[in-house]
Amino acid sequence: MLAAIEAGGTKFVCAVGGSYNDIWAQETIATRTPDETLAACARFFQDAQVRFGVITGLGIASFGPVDLGRSATHGTLLSTPKSGWAGTNLAHYFGHQVGVRVSLDTDVNAAVLAEAHIGAARGLDNAVYVTVGTGIGVGVLSQGKLLHGTLHPELGHMPVPRAHGDEKFQSQCPFHTDCLEGLAAGPAIAARASMPASILPADNMAWQTEAYYLGQLCRTLVLAYAPERIILGGGVMAQKSLIAKVRRETERLLGGYVPVITRAGGVERYITEPALGKISGLVGAFLLARQHKATGGR
Ligand code: ADP
Ligand code: ZN
Repeated sequence: MLAAIEAGGTKFVCAVGGSYNDIWAQETIATRTPDETLAACARFFQDAQVRFGVITGLGIASFGPVDLGRSATHGTLLSTPKSGWAGTNLAHYFGHQVGVRVSLDTDVNAAVLAEAHIGAARGLDNAVYVTVGTGIGVGVLSQGKLLHGTLHPELGHMPVPRAHGDEKFQSQCPFHTDCLEGLAAGPAIAARASMPASILPADNMAWQTEAYYLGQLCRTLVLAYAPERIILGGGVMAQKSLIAKVRRETERLLGGYVPVITRAGGVERYITEPALGKISGLVGAFLLARQHKATGGR
């Protein structure tokens, strides 16, 4: 039996089963204090072991930022805006409480793993998953391996040149005056347009500005990782007309320089929506549980 957790700022989804497509029990636990939330998760897994037998591996798809280096602090949540959670080590906690080997990665890394396994990047070894929501997060699968470094890519905070006419807009990132997240995540769209992104009409010019910034991200992703596919997910991408604008901007900004898009069969295939929707985190967590050394593709 494998175990999986999708750990988020609003809820923890816990599941056990033979695999992501063979789930035997699942429970959603609200994210409150670390003590309350983690104890409730541990109880779920202990009950599951009584009902179904021994858990052989636990995968965690976690919100971040999280320490993913090889040191003793691996798995520690860092300066998360979710109060009380910084310094919590999910991997240690569940390793002790459930007595099982834990494989922890970021929610976006889990998502790219899941999409490369059974979703929009099925069979590919080089793919990127982007979430554009309250923040902007990027998960990279390169040659079948999830990229970490000592932390994990934080491309949400990459610098971007200002869009024409957007020079005076105040970045919503508390750290940077010129980063992608500060200029293009959901809260920035809302601040610029004086209304939530979710109700901003499709023909508002702010979507062109948004597409320009996301095009800058895709351009950088192409240049840095040469992925075979870029998947754009998260709440903001629910604006259905946005992805076509991002495709156009990406091609325009690349200026025909890099052949990866042509090789992939055109920009419509290259920059795509997720196939798995909200389940990609949990699917990815099961894949992490199964294969301690994460590999994508097959
Ligand atoms: P989080 O990043 O907190 O996990 P989401 O990925 O759901 O959450 O993203 C939330 C953001 O998505 C909010 O800024 C919200 O305004 C925006 N959003 C939600 N629905 C839509 C929509 N239909 N069109 C554009 N933006 C949306
Ligand atoms: Zn920033």
